[in-house]
Amino acid sequence: MKATRMCLKTLKEAPQEAVIASHILLLRSGMIKKNVAGIYTYMPLGLKVIKKIEDIIREEMENIGCEEILCSAIQPKELWVESGRWDKYGPELMRLKDRNDREFCLGPTHEEVFTTIVKESIRSYKELPISLFQIQTKYRDEMRPRFGLIRSREFIMKDAYSFDIDEVGLEKSYDNFFKAYNNIFKRLHLNFTPVLADSGNIGGSVSHQFMALSDIGESTIIYNANYSADQEKAEALVDIYNEDNELKEIEEVSTPNVKTIEELEGFLKTSKKRIIKSIVYKDFLNKRLILALVRGDRDINKIKLANALDVSEFDLDFATLEDLSGINSTFGFVGPISLNLLTVVDEEVTHMINAYAGSNKKDIHLKNVNFKRDFDGIVKDIRVVKAGDLDIIKGEKLKEEKGIEVGQVFKLGTKYSLPMNCVYVNEKGESVPMVMGCYGIGVSRTLQAIVEEYHDEYGIKFPADLAPYKAVIIPVKYDNEMKDLSLELYEELKSKGIDVILDDRNLSFGVKAHDWELIGIPYHIIVGRDAAIKKVEFKFRSTLEKIIIDSKDVINNIK
Ligand code: ATP
Ligand code: MG
Repeated sequence: MKATRMCLKTLKEAPQEAVIASHILLLRSGMIKKNVAGIYTYMPLGLKVIKKIEDIIREEMENIGCEEILCSAIQPKELWVESGRWDKYGPELMRLKDRNDREFCLGPTHEEVFTTIVKESIRSYKELPISLFQIQTKYRDEMRPRFGLIRSREFIMKDAYSFDIDEVGLEKSYDNFFKAYNNIFKRLHLNFTPVLADSGNIGGSVSHQFMALSDIGESTIIYNANYSADQEKAEALVDIYNEDNELKEIEEVSTPNVKTIEELEGFLKTSKKRIIKSIVYKDFLNKRLILALVRGDRDINKIKLANALDVSEFDLDFATLEDLSGINSTFGFVGPISLNLLTVVDEEVTHMINAYAGSNKKDIHLKNVNFKRDFDGIVKDIRVVKAGDLDIIKGEKLKEEKGIEVGQVFKLGTKYSLPMNCVYVNEKGESVPMVMGCYGIGVSRTLQAIVEEYHDEYGIKFPADLAPYKAVIIPVKYDNEMKDLSLELYEELKSKGIDVILDDRNLSFGVKAHDWELIGIPYHIIVGRDAAIKKVEFKFRSTLEKIIIDSKDVINNIK
């Protein structure tokens, strides 16, 4: 491709909203263009990389016998009502109506559609297992679209679905996809790790996420040699901290204007571990208030809390001051005694002896509060696990690291096949629901994860097999011998099947060279004054190392 034919516009500066390197570089290199918040166009260079990522995914899907289809983005409401997700999915689901007021959504994921396709195509156990995938545009009205392609509202996803006769079959399918994902992310040159995950809005029992390790990742990985999980899912051993053995009588303590756990810790001269943190949530789905209790040094894991209540995390929000006065409590002094609410008690709270807690009266806390004797509730693990907690396998210290979730796999079981009646006929002639798995990869997010991992102060450093073009020929000036040799090399590389650009633009050498550094083309062939004696400079983008070579050796160097 000649640069003068390309729709190429690099930027000196990225718009202010771009704060992380990969987002800045994708915009500056002209690989993507913002349309509106969280919605982007893939420009020619960006699209070329996307296609390379997709090709690797396609090959690995093919290798495990998974066939490609392409579904519409638009899905009818009825399918989502059948699965029970129309009401449950929450505000991320982009809903729309046609001219006859029929309701649809723009697919954030495609379980319902694939389940319907397989239900209508497969009859007998003899036709199973089967798996299908697509690479397609998804829509999620994210609350906070940010970081460019990392969290966008329209994005490209590879989604695959497996259908088996039983759990044993699912186990095999899951394992096949798991291995294929390992291959894919290796071939994409990502420094990644699979972790245990919560199954979120998709549902099902077991799930893993594939995390590209990165400081800008929005996910927190909790891990050590024995265990690794997304923080949303991570469990740890219960920590018990007590200073007393015997239960004492409850007493009121005057705590004028002392509201936060930090303030209480100082005021009462005690440890946060002796204070019960009481938070009232609103459950919008069931239209009720919930009280959640964790130890004072802990945070509430909203996903675990939502799972304990069998609602979506989007159904939960903090109660307002008005809500609190409606139940005769008050902000900063909420506590578990005499609040007639459904209460979820974190496991650790049940071990606290003579704890401090709010009294639900202004400026008063209580001392010597004890589980069962003074309050009760459903006991669950609802705390956020953090570095320093002990793993549930061997009781060793856990660490934290940040990751970008590039893929996730789920064992769905019969979560969709049962309500949607996706059944097969077994050997005995009985109808049995298929056992499903689903497997996603964020293709556009992965592009950005690659850029995040491969960049320096000058721009992107694409691994050679992922770069939009392998090489660029940059004549110092596009005339005379330099032009002749550049053209000669260009034709030669093209004839050998090498994806090459000839920078035939009438620009200064510096501007041209910087553009290709920014864009991250792996090999730069600089044709300067030595063109007359058929010598060129060969530059490696990854190291910026330069060597002088004979022009006839260019191909070998690229290879
Ligand atoms: P997240 O927790 O980051 O919101 P998710 O768990 O909801 O993601 P899945 O339903 O597992 O996402 O979707 C499969 C893959 O699609 C994810 O692993 C991720 O790589 C990608 N993905 C999900 N949401 C987005 C988004 N808003 N923008 C870009 N990619 C996304
Ligand atoms: Mg996920």
